[in-house]
Amino acid sequence: MFVTNHVVSGAAIGLALPRQPLSAFTAGLASHFALDAIPHWGLELGPDREGHYLRVAKRDGLVGLTLVAAILLVAPRKTRLSVAMGIAGAVLADMDKPVMHFFHRVLYPRWFNRFHGGIQSENRVYLRNEIAAGLVAGLVTLGLLWRARRVRPN
Ligand SMILES: [Zn+2]
Repeated sequence: MFVTNHVVSGAAIGLALPRQPLSAFTAGLASHFALDAIPHWGLELGPDREGHYLRVAKRDGLVGLTLVAAILLVAPRKTRLSVAMGIAGAVLADMDKPVMHFFHRVLYPRWFNRFHGGIQSENRVYLRNEIAAGLVAGLVTLGLLWRARRVRPN
């Protein structure tokens, strides 16, 4: 699934567990595999697959990074560690992709890559699932951010 969706989901988890950063990390990690198990956007093998995939991945990565910065800026200070840990857990499994692209290194062991690859169900017709997951996670995150910013410290 798009890393943007993992970022927003991890942020929502961190906001839901504002004083439990380790739990937020663990739940974020679990959310990654739950989201990846939903049929999502991808491209069939073909001559243009890598170029097209890379163009989408670059944009997705930039949107995801921008959202990390924006969410951490807007999140109340007392929630930031949990939010950062939730996001870190949610995106960790996909860090092999930028590491492979920029450093030509395989980040995770083969058993993990087999598991991670095995739960994917990708096809371009599932773009609607990506958009729906992003909208749901985005709305939940906005609601939790709104609630967290309204709560006054005692
Ligand atoms: Zn993944």
